[in-house]
Amino acid sequence: MRHLSILAAACGLLCLVLPGLAHPQVGRLPFDDLHHQVWTTREGIPHNTINAIAQTPDGYLWFATWEGIARFNGHRFRLFERGPETGLPDAGVLSLSVDEGGRLVAAGARGGLSLTDGHSWQPLATAPTMITHAVIDSHRQLWIATQGAGVIRRQLDESGRMVAQESFLSSASAHQVLTDDRGAWAATSRGLLRIPHVGEARLVSGTDLPSAPVLSLLADDDGRLFVGTEQGLYVRDGLEQPFRSVHARLDDLAVSALLEDRGGALWIGTINSGLYRLNGGGVRHLGTQDGLPNNRVVSLYQDFEHSLWVGTNGGLFRLRSAPFVTTTRDQGLVGNYVRAVMPHADGSLWVGTSEGVSRIDGEQARTVGDGDDPIALSTLSLAQMPGGDVLIGTHSDGVLHWRDGQVVARHDRASGLPSNDIRYILVDREQRIWIATASGLARVDQEGTTVFLPRDGLPGDFVIAVEEDSRGQIWVGTGFGLARYAGGHFEPISLYHLDEAMYVYGIHEDRTRYRLWLATDRGLVRYDPISGDAELVGRSAGMPVDKLFHVVDDRHGAFWLTSNRGIIRVLQEQAVAVADGEREKIDFELYTEGDGLLSAQANGGAGPPAAWHEGRVWVATAVGLASVDPDHLTRYEDTVLPVSIEHFAADGNEQRIDGPVKLPAGTGRVTIQYAGLGFIMPQRIRYRTKLEGFDDEWVDRRGQNVAEYTNLGPGDYVFRVSAAYPYGDWNGSETSLRFSIAPLPWQRAWFWVVVILALSGLIGLATQWRMRRLERRARELSAQVDEKTRELKQQAENFERQARIDQLTGLANRRAFDEWLAEEFRRSRSEDRPLSLVIMDLDHFKRVNDEYSHLIGDEVMRVVADVLRKHVRAGDQAARWGGEEFTLTFHDIDGEQAAGISERIRRSIETTDFGRLAPDLTITASFGVSDNRQAQNYEDLLRQADQALFRAKDEGRNRVVVHVSETDS
Ligand code: GH3
Ligand code: MG
Ligand code: MG
Repeated sequence: MRHLSILAAACGLLCLVLPGLAHPQVGRLPFDDLHHQVWTTREGIPHNTINAIAQTPDGYLWFATWEGIARFNGHRFRLFERGPETGLPDAGVLSLSVDEGGRLVAAGARGGLSLTDGHSWQPLATAPTMITHAVIDSHRQLWIATQGAGVIRRQLDESGRMVAQESFLSSASAHQVLTDDRGAWAATSRGLLRIPHVGEARLVSGTDLPSAPVLSLLADDDGRLFVGTEQGLYVRDGLEQPFRSVHARLDDLAVSALLEDRGGALWIGTINSGLYRLNGGGVRHLGTQDGLPNNRVVSLYQDFEHSLWVGTNGGLFRLRSAPFVTTTRDQGLVGNYVRAVMPHADGSLWVGTSEGVSRIDGEQARTVGDGDDPIALSTLSLAQMPGGDVLIGTHSDGVLHWRDGQVVARHDRASGLPSNDIRYILVDREQRIWIATASGLARVDQEGTTVFLPRDGLPGDFVIAVEEDSRGQIWVGTGFGLARYAGGHFEPISLYHLDEAMYVYGIHEDRTRYRLWLATDRGLVRYDPISGDAELVGRSAGMPVDKLFHVVDDRHGAFWLTSNRGIIRVLQEQAVAVADGEREKIDFELYTEGDGLLSAQANGGAGPPAAWHEGRVWVATAVGLASVDPDHLTRYEDTVLPVSIEHFAADGNEQRIDGPVKLPAGTGRVTIQYAGLGFIMPQRIRYRTKLEGFDDEWVDRRGQNVAEYTNLGPGDYVFRVSAAYPYGDWNGSETSLRFSIAPLPWQRAWFWVVVILALSGLIGLATQWRMRRLERRARELSAQVDEKTRELKQQAENFERQARIDQLTGLANRRAFDEWLAEEFRRSRSEDRPLSLVIMDLDHFKRVNDEYSHLIGDEVMRVVADVLRKHVRAGDQAARWGGEEFTLTFHDIDGEQAAGISERIRRSIETTDFGRLAPDLTITASFGVSDNRQAQNYEDLLRQADQALFRAKDEGRNRVVVHVSETDS
């Protein structure tokens, strides 16, 4: 449950976004990090009215509708309807609750009631009429709120049978029952009803509650009781206290659902006015104008990951916190295409866009302009002068000097700049203005304007960044590397030796260690200004993109790197360790659209394109200004995801998985489907599996949620699976399932005992016969015994052969191959003769299965096996190595010759007509070839062929690659 506390911080932020004011000059910023999503029948919910929501301890979310219950795993809804499976008399389900044992209690139309532990359902005796709510309390009492038959209390025995029943207010309708230690509260059409365990049930009357039907109830941890009525929301602070209205703004609302979230905010669902939230900050409203599918709220729920689920009449709505907030034109920004972001000494933040400049102060964004006249120029860069003036670098109009609401000066071509395309501006400690343009660098000081071009030592004339370090050194980033200013000219510093890095888009100084961190077109480069040493932290260290635009230090030990494909967070200590050569790979988190960015494309090539300001990292993107508070990051890496095995099939037959699975002898294919039950970014959950008894190591499945095993031998297996969010740890997430495959008769010891006993019995009989009968007769019998023995031996040999032959293709199987290869390798070695090995893997075979079915996939494999058989000589061996992978072993043939044969096979497969199986089906295969010249043992041989195969796949598939040893390449 570690993820609960981690997410709690993020959850405290749950607030609603107020509709932005559509004023061109002033706008409100979004003040929190909330994202919403909607599901309707289009996404697979059976009905758009979500009557109830619950989450079971196994991690599944359940939604009750008029057309059945939908179980959600983040990807798909699985439907449970009326019928023998659930035992429900009607598909209309109105209530879901979870009992103390973690079972789901479902109830609804026609008085239907059923419990499930996730594997099977246990129907209970129905109620006389429709059930609106049902819960089982800790005393094994079932409380049922009904439509028109009041409240029913049943005592259940251990097996769920009813032993006693009592009704209350049996002519009224009840909507909800809320149990506590001493009894229950019920929301009824006649008002609030108290049903104590001991004593009489009574309606709570008096002047402090309106005489209106009660629709919803909520008790909080502080002993307060909230009562949602048709005319407002009321609360009683303690046992003997009177009820009072919760908030004047809620007074006339019909309150249909109530929830207190883990951040302490109260959520109020209404019959026709949408959703309200009440917390220390007051009341906020959320309705259809904010994306709620419908203003009738029926149910509310908060899940383990603290997402808030809202069931409405028009679909399901979910609110969750996201790391990034994006400010756009909707919040008053002058343009959405943001190029520069600059913190100003007065505490405001200046934002340059393609349509002008905005100034963000506190919660407001204002367009920078002359009175009502905005500077509607495409802006690329911004800088601040010591007195507070701002320099605005534009795309084609040079630099505007802005003071007190107007342009007081202008630097452009007319005043001596090499270009009007202004990429970056620096005001250094001597108040000289350095202006980076697309055609050279200019410096403006008391003496006038000086231009620096490649002839002055600049590595290139496309200048993108200029910074001054803590020692007063000026650094310039260009399209041809870095440059340092020294005594009137520039000294170029090439980074080309670092994976051919050229563009330096951003320069960040680590002042404590005095190092520069450069954002380049090949990744992050660390540069030591003293020694001139430079190291790359790029693709080879595992970075997800080449081109970085800027480096922002978040004061929490991380660097935020901006790129065209998202915003990347890395730990500084890891970047240092990689640069120092002490670490090979860097871990990273990549933030994209799902994380609150409206576009993953961060802008660069002008700037500054990102900045640190008031505890947040701000990034210029193609759609708005994005920002993140590193303090409130939702830390997916600590989440423990429940994982569930959803489907288990052996040779296509689904198996029950409520206990260990026993599979019959000869089982060929085992398919296991599983799901990680995380709902924040289900499409990014990754998996690993391990089949104990088969795998020695965990197998990385990435996003794949199905594991398939073919050719498993008899024995006991444990299938284990873990799920995690990207970049997170497995954190002990695990589910396992035991299964076993029975041995075939000849795979059992007793079979041979019986055979031998039978044989000796026969011989014994024969002896007796000989003793008693004529010699001739005896000889005949003996001959018969010999015959029987031969037959049995033949049969045993057949069995033995079958155990070494793959059933599907008739080729040698893995076991036969392994034995054969070990033996052949030893022999070829001792006789010093060549031996070569080919591993062949069919290309994109999953697609074949997906597009044409497994049966066709199997047929394809048979045809491919025929092709292989045609190409091997007697004495060589073709085998099915597992799945859609095959091996070929050739002796007295080296790797090159084997590659020749493979090439013929490759062509033959490519041109085989599979039209008989499916029109326009074509198959290709990739081949990895190795031979015994560089192999110490047969494991080497296998590994080298496998590496070659990997390369064949990597280089585009449908090809033959021969292993080349490291020393040759
Ligand atoms: P590629 O090898 O080109 O990278 O892609 P692939 O799609 O072939 O990927 P991979 O080798 O990882 O997957 C092999 C697939 O082959 C998985 C499984 O669906 C399928 N497969 C394995 N054994 C059998 C089998 O006995 N019958 C059928 N029909 N399909 C099988
Ligand atoms: Mg494969
Ligand atoms: Mg394959």
